[in-house]
Amino acid sequence: MPPCQDETNPLSLTPWSLPPRMCAPRFDSAEKLIVLFERRLALAALSRREFIEGSVAVIGAGGLRLPVWAQTTAAAGGANQLLLGVDFYPDQTPEALWEEDSRMMAETGFTNVRIAEFAWALMEPNEGKFDFAWLRRAVQTLHKHNLAVILGTPSAAPPPWLSLKYPEIIEVNAQGQRLHAGGRRFTCPTNKVYRRLSLTIAAEMARTFAETPGVIGWQIDNEFTLSSSPRCYCNFCQTGFQEWLRSRYGSVDKLNQTWGTVFWSQTYTDFSQVPVPLPSGGDPNPGLALDYDRYQSYANASFLEEQLVMLRQKCPRHFVTTNNVGPPVDYIDLRELYKNLDFVAFDNYPGFFEMLLHEQMKSGSLPAGTISTATAMGHDFARCVKGGKPFMIMEEQSGKAGQKTFSPQPEKGQVRLWTYQAIAHGAMGVNYFRWDTATFGAEEYWHGVLNHDRSKSPAYDEIKQTVKELKALGLELLYSRYPADVALVFDYDCGWALQIQPGHSGLSYVPQVTAWYGAITASHAGIDVIAPGADLSPYKIVFAPLAYVLTEAQATRIRNFVQDGGTFVTSFRLGVKTGSSQIVRTPLPGLLRDVMGVTVEDYVPIYSTRQGVKFSAAFVGADGECGLWADILQPAGAEVVASYTAGEHAGKAAVTINSFGKGKAVYVGADLDAASLARVLRTLRASAGVQPAIEVPAGVEMTARRAGNSEWIFLLNNTSVAQTVTLPKAFTDLLTKESHSGTVELSGYGVRVLT
Ligand SMILES: [Zn+2]
Repeated sequence: MPPCQDETNPLSLTPWSLPPRMCAPRFDSAEKLIVLFERRLALAALSRREFIEGSVAVIGAGGLRLPVWAQTTAAAGGANQLLLGVDFYPDQTPEALWEEDSRMMAETGFTNVRIAEFAWALMEPNEGKFDFAWLRRAVQTLHKHNLAVILGTPSAAPPPWLSLKYPEIIEVNAQGQRLHAGGRRFTCPTNKVYRRLSLTIAAEMARTFAETPGVIGWQIDNEFTLSSSPRCYCNFCQTGFQEWLRSRYGSVDKLNQTWGTVFWSQTYTDFSQVPVPLPSGGDPNPGLALDYDRYQSYANASFLEEQLVMLRQKCPRHFVTTNNVGPPVDYIDLRELYKNLDFVAFDNYPGFFEMLLHEQMKSGSLPAGTISTATAMGHDFARCVKGGKPFMIMEEQSGKAGQKTFSPQPEKGQVRLWTYQAIAHGAMGVNYFRWDTATFGAEEYWHGVLNHDRSKSPAYDEIKQTVKELKALGLELLYSRYPADVALVFDYDCGWALQIQPGHSGLSYVPQVTAWYGAITASHAGIDVIAPGADLSPYKIVFAPLAYVLTEAQATRIRNFVQDGGTFVTSFRLGVKTGSSQIVRTPLPGLLRDVMGVTVEDYVPIYSTRQGVKFSAAFVGADGECGLWADILQPAGAEVVASYTAGEHAGKAAVTINSFGKGKAVYVGADLDAASLARVLRTLRASAGVQPAIEVPAGVEMTARRAGNSEWIFLLNNTSVAQTVTLPKAFTDLLTKESHSGTVELSGYGVRVLT
């Protein structure tokens, strides 16, 4: 079961706590749910009257109810229940402008702001001396204009006095060098002094603003691990790692056995001898390196947890979240980070991502759809982090973005399209980054809704229109669920283990998973991006490329899924490693050999001579090409549906399908070119009985959201040219109120919401 209910947290029982597939069986009826909901309201010290006043929250035949924080803010008569806002920096703005800014933000249609996440130096100018008067005045001004406030705790950037007084809180990087103060995210996640000081300022904020009208929620910290040095290797982290290992393994003998420390004379006789993986003349033990990645993830999540526990106690009426960006740039298990938070909040910068990819490529242009596909995968990942709950975009790109260089200028319609893409994939709210553009500091190039001269940005009218449209579409849509028959597994352990030992210099996890996501979603089926431990039973077909690390529990789950009629599709390097990063002692694919019906006869990293792949009738089409890797498959019951065509392995099986129980298991042993991969995965998707509601042309994205008997279909044109979509029946576009049948036109970067 996903972590969708926290019995101890009265705020956790929200409409978006209940993805029907996962959690609904725990309640016999909506009536019982409401009773339980009211009981929790009582726990949250809300009066019956407040609850009744908050019952404006009951909307729609689906019995949709608003979260507690939305009800309480509605009952307070000030804020509203929508999260369609902007990120605002009163700390960086002359106070004389706050009134004008608040009025203009309200006129734009924004419902909330996020503030203060980088304002530690103003809130605690000296240790233990707190000044929240300015922030209180800012909140009052915003609230006067009916703008709800999300407060950020400031631990992502400590003030200079702190890092000077406690230099040991500063992070040590992967080369063993201590960073310097002056940027942000330069602190150690383990250091107890930094944790204490971070908790103290957050607690003072919470005590000050717990009952302040207009404040509705919290963002803890900002973008954990998102820096040029995402992991810390200091002495405090070494001690923390040793304690974490002691708790995980119990005895040092077990640790030695699990890692295989007899290799290179690394046998430990005490946990205090275990190093962190700093440069040591040779590669670290793979088990140690993987556990250190896990420890650093744990250290950041437990850092957050300290502030979360405090906020739950001091501010029971407020929601609590944090913001981050999804894979591939994170070095933290986001499922662990968000486990006890109310909902996921993500930062979405498609244009900035495009700039980064261009810089990595040095030259040339990105293949069509690269950015929109990666962005869609990020949204699907975000939605699934908490089992399908609607998520929020805490920072949405609103103009050119960058630190030293500018990202491409968003073309007309793109900011609106990016917003709708998030909504189409399950978002319930969006905050644009940022209101005014800074004229000082490292993010001067990061354009906001106002330009440097405070004139309206090129996207201002678009943003105003989008906010107005989303308000009209309403809460039922924004809180609806996203149905999916298809799942794609994203496993941090596989990603980290392949970072440590990729097997081929060109092979890495996230690009492979993204390529598979793109190949599958080109068919516009609803897809969840799930954890390896997720329940597979809701899905007709599950894709799990590069499942390099495979535990017995995961193998059992896959075996049962196929046995019961599911289709499981995987790729080369399946089941090579155990959960402790040792290579299995059985023939590959190890624990799933019988399910897949093949034995891996040999595995071949490919550097110069590419292998051809010929397909049988099952995937009829042009011959394909095998890129980085070839698993040479020996069928043991499986049907061969593609074979290698060149070299010493010519004629050997490259892709196989095995019938196992009531289902099928497909092994894609070759690293197929994009066109062949798309053909294979789309054919498998169709044969598993998954069909998109509407066929759309290349460059157009189609998704659906549902609540009760209502369904909304989103058509998103990710290209700059007009596109035509053939409709299977008559629809009404909720944005234009026009009816369409036969075909419907989408302008360049155009959006339609059909019902
Ligand atoms: Zn550290």
